[in-house]
Amino acid sequence: MNYDDLWKLDHEHVMQTYGRQPVAFVRGDGARLWDSEGKEYLDFLSGLATVSLGHAHPEVADAIADQARTLLHVSNLYLNDQQPKLAERLDLLLTSATGTAGQVFFANSGAESNECAIKLARRHGQANGGPERFHVVSAYNSFHGRTLTTLAATGQPQKQETFQPLPTGFRQVEFADIDALRAAMDERVCAVLLEPVQGEGGVQAAPPGYLEAVRALCDEREALLVLDEVQTGLGRTGKWFGFEHSGDVRPDIVTMAKALGNGMPIGACWARRDVAAAFKPGDHATTFGGQPLAARAALTVLDVMERENAPGRAEQRGKQLMQELAAIPEVVDVRGLGLLVAAELAEGIAAASVASACLGAGLVVNAVTPTSLRFAPPLLVTEAEIDRGVAILREVVRGVA
Ligand SMILES: *Cc1c(COP(=O)(O)O)cnc(C)c1O
Repeated sequence: MNYDDLWKLDHEHVMQTYGRQPVAFVRGDGARLWDSEGKEYLDFLSGLATVSLGHAHPEVADAIADQARTLLHVSNLYLNDQQPKLAERLDLLLTSATGTAGQVFFANSGAESNECAIKLARRHGQANGGPERFHVVSAYNSFHGRTLTTLAATGQPQKQETFQPLPTGFRQVEFADIDALRAAMDERVCAVLLEPVQGEGGVQAAPPGYLEAVRALCDEREALLVLDEVQTGLGRTGKWFGFEHSGDVRPDIVTMAKALGNGMPIGACWARRDVAAAFKPGDHATTFGGQPLAARAALTVLDVMERENAPGRAEQRGKQLMQELAAIPEVVDVRGLGLLVAAELAEGIAAASVASACLGAGLVVNAVTPTSLRFAPPLLVTEAEIDRGVAILREVVRGVA
């Protein structure tokens, strides 16, 4: 089917909640994509930081096909032979990053992983601090998902307005302002929820010392520190987890999703063991979460990431990308960690226009703010592909400026 036919079907039958770019992708390979008209693209967005090992990764594809022929799904009324193995692997990664062993709940998306984190934090808070301790403090400009509860935690009033009333017990403070956070921390607060790098908020990394100070404040006020690593987790920032760029942070709960299945929908909420113990059988559940297919895909993703040193690759290629972006005359600032990068454009250049011109020129990036572009290529992107992508951008930006 060509683009026009697909567009017509979409507008007729799909709820129109997205302002989509005018392209329909049909095939991928590594950092490359092809659209319905056969045109090739370099993908510097990876399905929103999700396809970290690249499109159609052969090992992941084989594992998915094999598991599909073996066992897809049995529900969580029974154990399956993939979920506990994946839990062990994630727990090992987080135990080594936090120094504390924990346990994992599997969900199907980032929002659901955060939903689990919020329910767990409330349960833990009320069990330890009484019925009033259920409030969650997050940051302005954050993004935690689009379910009603994660929307209540998402510090973007314009996204919340149309869905009032939202669940209560959520408030936001300025990101990176420890005094503002301290002022918001009364005895009702059960958790502070933050992204180590605000991804949707424009690729804004926590400044040095901030997360450490939040940790100390949480300890002082008996609140849990919940880190939303849905976008930053699993190698994207050049380390396994975004918080590992800071010193002593030791989050109590960490959520993950995007990169975990390399495109298979799966999310995870990890919690320190004594925090996880606040959930009793029956407290939380999902039909699909941690099913054999998604768990097998994620196990294979972790295998490949470890073998290929995906975090190390992200760090190296990220440095290259940031250097090359900074050398473009119309780029006034470059920020980010590893391969989660944003380029701020010179005054008067609209990022949305540059992003759509890039698409026309065969480069997939997105305008993460009105004035900046986001880059999140696959972590295994090559040196030559970074060169090529930046060269396309350089030409495009010159034409638009
Ligand atoms: C994408 C994202 C989410 C939401 O994930 P979904 O899978 O879209 O529900 C939550 N938090 C962060 C930090 C994200 O980047």
